[in-house]
Amino acid sequence: MLYIGCHLSYSKGYEAMGRQALEIGANTFAFFTRNPRGGSAKKIDNDDVNKLINIMTANNFGKLVVHAPYTMNLCSDNWDTRRFGKKIMSDDLMRMESIPGNYYNFHPGCHMKQGSDKGIELIAGQLNGILSPKQSTIVLLETMAGKGSEIGRNFEELRAIIDRTEYSDKLGVCLDTCHIWDGGYDIVNNFDEVIEEFDYTIGLDRLKAVHLNDSLNSCGSHKDRHAKIGQGHIGINAMINIINHPAIKNLPVILETPNDMNGYAREIKVLRENYSE
Ligand code: FE
Ligand code: FE
Ligand code: ZN
Repeated sequence: MLYIGCHLSYSKGYEAMGRQALEIGANTFAFFTRNPRGGSAKKIDNDDVNKLINIMTANNFGKLVVHAPYTMNLCSDNWDTRRFGKKIMSDDLMRMESIPGNYYNFHPGCHMKQGSDKGIELIAGQLNGILSPKQSTIVLLETMAGKGSEIGRNFEELRAIIDRTEYSDKLGVCLDTCHIWDGGYDIVNNFDEVIEEFDYTIGLDRLKAVHLNDSLNSCGSHKDRHAKIGQGHIGINAMINIINHPAIKNLPVILETPNDMNGYAREIKVLRENYSE
């Protein structure tokens, strides 16, 4: 089953997101828990959440891939920023227990000038203070393009975080196609090998979700500029190959392409037409 969707606005609540997903042919989606700059989050209305859960059940939705604020940096060189990040993630995970069993995706962080070893250590240290054995949400580390001092520029860095985290059964990985392409993984010519490398380094059981984006730049560029599906350097054939790959086939796929809702509806339609059960 192809579970596919895009980012939706949380501003009208949970049920509204479920309805909008149906309108564009989606059966999963992503949303930011609060404004991307990390402001305060709205109170949860349990009635509204239950209406979304009903829509999801009735329409066979896949798991949701909720996105942490971009500005959260668990490995900042600034103590206040680190503490703020910890507070936001803890609060988000607590709130997500009202829609149990979904995914919470975050950018591991930027080490600033501290070096990746220090960054990895800080991120794992923070996760050790945030994750709880009782939570139903799996937290996903996103693969990053390696822009600036981003951690997660290769599979090894994600593995190193997982290895240093106590409740690592609560951790998974979200594969962003634009990011790994920009990071130097040739998913156009060697997707099988990239998946094998993922399996060898991290383990395929950790692969939980995909961000499906084309890229404005070439493989290894470390730029992180998303393009519409089929309108970048990755191209439509590789995209179709990726969504049909046995390692990807049943994972939630989230589009983060520069589109309005009509554009997302079109991309979802094209990808569905090229998906074989
Ligand atoms: Fe992201
Ligand atoms: Fe992404
Ligand atoms: Zn990106």
